[in-house]
Amino acid sequence: MATKYIRNFSIIAHIDHGKSTLADRLLERTGTVSQREMEEQVLDTMDLERERGITIKAQSARLVYDAKDGHQYTLNLIDTPGHVDFNYEVSRSLAACEGALLIVDATQGVEAQTLANVYLALEHDLEIIPIINKIDLPSADPERVRREIEDVIGLDAENAILVSAKTGQGIDDVLEAIVRYIPAPEEAPQKPLRALIFDSHFDAYKGAIANIRIMEGTLRAGQKIRMMATGKEFEVIETGVFLPQMHKVAALECGSVGYLAAGMKNVRDCRVGDTVTTATHSAQTPLPGYRKAVPMVYCGLYPLETNEYDALRDALEKLHLNDAALLFEPETSTALGFGFRCGFLGLLHMDVIRERLEREYGLSLITTAPSVNYHVYCTDGTMVTVDNPSLMPDMSKIERIEEPLVKTSIIVPKDMVGTVMEISQNRRGQYVTMDYLDETRVSLVYNLPLCEILYDYFDTLKSATRGYASVDYALNGYQVSPMVKMDILINGETVDALSVIVHREFAARRGRALVEKLRGLIPRQLFQIPIQAAVGNKIIARENVAALRKDVLAKCYGGDISRKRKLLEKQKAGKKRMKQFGTVEIPQEAFMAVLKVE
Ligand code: GDP
Ligand code: MG
Repeated sequence: MATKYIRNFSIIAHIDHGKSTLADRLLERTGTVSQREMEEQVLDTMDLERERGITIKAQSARLVYDAKDGHQYTLNLIDTPGHVDFNYEVSRSLAACEGALLIVDATQGVEAQTLANVYLALEHDLEIIPIINKIDLPSADPERVRREIEDVIGLDAENAILVSAKTGQGIDDVLEAIVRYIPAPEEAPQKPLRALIFDSHFDAYKGAIANIRIMEGTLRAGQKIRMMATGKEFEVIETGVFLPQMHKVAALECGSVGYLAAGMKNVRDCRVGDTVTTATHSAQTPLPGYRKAVPMVYCGLYPLETNEYDALRDALEKLHLNDAALLFEPETSTALGFGFRCGFLGLLHMDVIRERLEREYGLSLITTAPSVNYHVYCTDGTMVTVDNPSLMPDMSKIERIEEPLVKTSIIVPKDMVGTVMEISQNRRGQYVTMDYLDETRVSLVYNLPLCEILYDYFDTLKSATRGYASVDYALNGYQVSPMVKMDILINGETVDALSVIVHREFAARRGRALVEKLRGLIPRQLFQIPIQAAVGNKIIARENVAALRKDVLAKCYGGDISRKRKLLEKQKAGKKRMKQFGTVEIPQEAFMAVLKVE
């Protein structure tokens, strides 16, 4: 197939504006997936994705379309993950395209992720086709949204396509627009091979599979290839395309999108963003834009039952095969025993991995509060990175600490600006800009410490604005801050897994709120349990868990044995997710309590 009949495109949108639904309609209309096979939202496959309504792992599909000009076109739809945690993956997917469909919900208008995605698409010089979706809804206001796309984004929206991805109205216009407005890939079949890896996954039979876009040259099975960033070499066993399931083809020509299998043991052998070239007659330079995925959020994962440690390691290794961004290494806690320190791209990524470990691998876990990565400059001139609060060096050895910042964009109705400002400033946010999108809505930009975002920032913002706030954020460097380690002592002993790093000025307030919260979470015993918060040697807050007045079984003595058994069983069930610490039991909620204190 000549490159002039190929179109490579992505769909970009704010969450819930209809990306997956539109993709399904395109698959259906081109007969790629028959109506009978059409399960709702074919492109969102993982159970978790369906439940959460977001694409976590992108998928691609090749559509064959007979256009009105009488020619048959190959349309490669490259799906993108729908969450800010995966922005780097989004940018690599866009780099594999010549164009993008920009979907805006006709009842909502431009939102924070609409803008973030448009900026990414513009960075890659993509042809952007504006689409106004959900026009079947009574509250749709396509004219207002059209103006907003022009005023806020600066795109010509005169020809924006009006669509209902639900009913299928306007889908043919979308297909025609893809053919007409998105440029064909450049023709460079004679050049040495350069293929961009924009995604990867692990297949039980074929090993790691790289999703690739051939930018220059041709790729066929049997060729020897080299990954330019890692320098690793492999022999190509299979090339293929996505229908959307994997389908073997003899070769991938210049401009096309597909996959390669090369007996790679691990997705880290084919890193997203890396360039594939041939081992001989190699390309001189890799394609631009490669970077290694860096975790932003860390936490400890511990098996509730010590004998599940090996099962947890095996499960993490399996997930790791498929997820180059997930990091883990063994760690030991005096409170929790043997477990793993894990690194994630963001909070959602962390939640997804944790849920998969529990659901798919049947593990019961204790999770410690998430932490960010601090740059700790010591008085001896060295710098250490600290992602586990309990490993923070002694304050006397620290010269300064730098914490990661994120640039956060928030779009809200204008009467909620005050609320957003208050919430952001309470979390040490620095105001950057404020712009009116139209008469009713405002876009605010704050620079926030990443660690403050972990303190329930998004949920607080969402509930305070009754769900109206739309948010996007991206890492934005480091700043020096007076951070201190706050320890929690239970029954006089430091529980390492409860230590947190806080801003010095927040320590007293958060310490008091935290011990108060813990008092309510830690089960009472026959003796009084003191709970203290300390910075260095200084106790900054204290509460007591009062002693139980009498044994729960006391009233059963001499009584009915079955009632006694029932009580014991009830106690046992209540013990789920408790970790024994000396004579005290600490429930899972205690490790997360710090995130819920103001
Ligand atoms: P995504 O997050 O961008 O992938 O959005 P989805 O495709 O999952 O759609 C979000 C919600 O909007 C779902 O409940 C869809 O059924 C609904 N939806 C999508 N397109 C339309 C449309 O054209 N009309 C109506 N009424 N609902 C739609
Ligand atoms: Mg979706």
